[in-house]
Amino acid sequence: MTLSTPVNPVEIARIALKRLSERALPPTPENYTQFYNAILTIKAPESKTASEMQVAWQVLYKLDDAVDGASLLTECLLENLADSSQVFEQKLGDLKQVRQAHVAQQVSIEETQASLEDMLNVVISTTHNVHSTVRTSHSDLQTIRDSIRHIEEDLAFNRKVLEQDALTGALNRQGLDHLLLREVKRAQRIDGRLTAAIIDLDDFKLINDRFTHLVGDQVLIHVTNLTKAVLRESDVLVRYGGEEFLLLLVDTDIRGASYVIDRLKLVAGRTPYIHHNQRIEVRFSAGIAQLKDDENGRALLLRADEALYRAKQSGRGKTEIAD
Ligand code: GH3
Ligand code: MG
Ligand code: MG
Repeated sequence: MTLSTPVNPVEIARIALKRLSERALPPTPENYTQFYNAILTIKAPESKTASEMQVAWQVLYKLDDAVDGASLLTECLLENLADSSQVFEQKLGDLKQVRQAHVAQQVSIEETQASLEDMLNVVISTTHNVHSTVRTSHSDLQTIRDSIRHIEEDLAFNRKVLEQDALTGALNRQGLDHLLLREVKRAQRIDGRLTAAIIDLDDFKLINDRFTHLVGDQVLIHVTNLTKAVLRESDVLVRYGGEEFLLLLVDTDIRGASYVIDRLKLVAGRTPYIHHNQRIEVRFSAGIAQLKDDENGRALLLRADEALYRAKQSGRGKTEIAD
């Protein structure tokens, strides 16, 4: 199964309604649509943003130009080689005639030597010309290769920017799309050990209300840094929502993921964000789910999200594990 496999809409609707009631929000069409879409924001991998497509087109145009240039150069080189080979053939014919004349004693040894020298000079100068054309082509091809490398670097950079959350530098949901697909495939190919943990900061609104939204932003960056510090290099951190983060833990089971979450709780408890000498304590609730054999990425995240919902319901600061 792949990420583009549709997820049961009834299931999503159920979670959306649950989330509305959790927040004591009326199930108006607007509220419902907002929550439904928030749950269903993992897009199919083939959907690309307009700017990503733009970058791809620019790269294609540049590559097209570079290939045109290379093709012109190769044509030039071929023509040069054909001309040179004609000159060589003609000179070889001349040389044969001189040799015959020499054998018939019609020309002196000095005259024969002079025409040999003349021919050698032509050969040397033609070879030089060909050599210089090849050198120019070689350096032009190197320039093209460098341009292609730059284009590749630009593309990789643009992709990184597009897939990064601007505030925290964590991956955003767009970045999660193809990565989730890749990790799910890899886990299913190897031993199926992939665990998703979604954390949601508790009462984050209160931090914003008390210290302003700007300080709230700094707290989100602080949480990102703390989380990165407890993750392994191979794990993935995604800003999953405003104050929600997804930890995609590769080669990790429920036990390992629980350990990571406990450690993060400990680290967050010991390391409050300090704002003008005031300690801002950050707590969070978490939901954990391990990938099942026949499951796709979206279903895995939905189960982790449901576990998170239960954690929130059973009092904040808790961790719940999906069935
Ligand atoms: P709960 O324990 O139920 O999760 O309560 P909460 O206050 O954390 O959750 P709620 O969903 O009520 O509010 C989330 C808050 O997160 C409200 C929103 O303004 C804030 N938020 C979302 N994104 C950002 C952001 O980028 N920066 C800041 N500063 N705040 C944000
Ligand atoms: Mg939230
Ligand atoms: Mg919250």
